[in-house]
Amino acid sequence: MHFAGPSDIMPIMNWLSLYKGRLIVAGPCSVESHHQLLATAQGLSQTGRVTVLRAGLWKPRSRPGKFEGVGARAFPWLKEIKEKTGMQIAVEAAMPEHATLCLKHGVDMIWLGARTTVNPFMVQEIADAIKGSGIPVMIKNPVSPDVRLWVGAIERVHLAGSNKIIAIHRGFHNHEQSIYRNIPLWEIPMQLKRELPGLPVICDPSHIAGNRKWVKEVAQIAFSRELDGLMIETHHKPEEALTDAHQQITPAELTQILDDLFDESETPAQAATLKSLRNRIDEQDYQILELLAKRMRLVKEVGTLKKALGEDVVQPGRQQKLLDDREQKGSMLNLNKPFIRKIMQLVHEESVNIQSTLAHSESRAEHKEQNKPTQKHS
Ligand code: PEP
Ligand code: MN
Repeated sequence: MHFAGPSDIMPIMNWLSLYKGRLIVAGPCSVESHHQLLATAQGLSQTGRVTVLRAGLWKPRSRPGKFEGVGARAFPWLKEIKEKTGMQIAVEAAMPEHATLCLKHGVDMIWLGARTTVNPFMVQEIADAIKGSGIPVMIKNPVSPDVRLWVGAIERVHLAGSNKIIAIHRGFHNHEQSIYRNIPLWEIPMQLKRELPGLPVICDPSHIAGNRKWVKEVAQIAFSRELDGLMIETHHKPEEALTDAHQQITPAELTQILDDLFDESETPAQAATLKSLRNRIDEQDYQILELLAKRMRLVKEVGTLKKALGEDVVQPGRQQKLLDDREQKGSMLNLNKPFIRKIMQLVHEESVNIQSTLAHSESRAEHKEQNKPTQKHS
């Protein structure tokens, strides 16, 4: 059965209070202790900006033997915190048993993690576990960049009777080297928005960035892409966190980031557009850097092969041909020819440098090998 469209998915402002038009979800990656949860939640509540407290109780780790969450014993703590702060409580359900326990303990919403969305069998089992309860569900994108898996998980939860659904963009696994922990591929959440208009989509800049230094810039890009809110990992002492310590921020830092973001979005329309365009330019520049790094890795591979074949680093005619070709291709994209020639010259020079260094370091090693004193047999 195909999803008829999220026409009956409830707009978030109808059931959640927003901060300046956006939903703010924050809280620790993992609940670690009563004290940590209480201190973090109180800090977040005092910001006056957070509607939903995220609290991971079960943490699947790549390898066994590390902290795997406090589990069900934290439910009474969550209840106490809801009473004290009034924040809604969200817990990750990675298995149907988790969802059942969340329903039993009156948790306000659950979320499906990226490793769950990737598995339609598990999504279906969780959907069956919540069937008819109407519990709100936030659904993270799958780890792999496949929008159909994301849509499929939303459909399964929707068919189980939930019309309070929020998608969370948390970036995608990338085997290439990247600036971020998870590559954002902004086109994918944009495609989701086009396929399911009306579905609220928020961004998790913490898991995209993987480092607290980049959380704000990712959040900024999310706002310029008109996403509906943020989920940000927050800890009262981030450096002591048992999971995702690099990317968590304090409640005070969260306030600062949100103030900066909203300050910028509150400027007059033209200034806001300018900010938004600049964010898009930043995003494109990061992509250019990643492409350059990829290109230079290829250059190294070619250098190694040239060496093995005994070929020279600089091959006559190659540079001229390359520059002419790029100049022509660039002008087809309306780029200025001398500009393209200059950039490509620099790129080519750097490539030659890389290959020369490689060739020399290898030949030095060979030279040493050849000049080794012959061993005397005793
Ligand atoms: C998390 O939210 O802490 C988490 C594990 O995220 P993800 O499912 O996006 O990896
Ligand atoms: Mn985390």
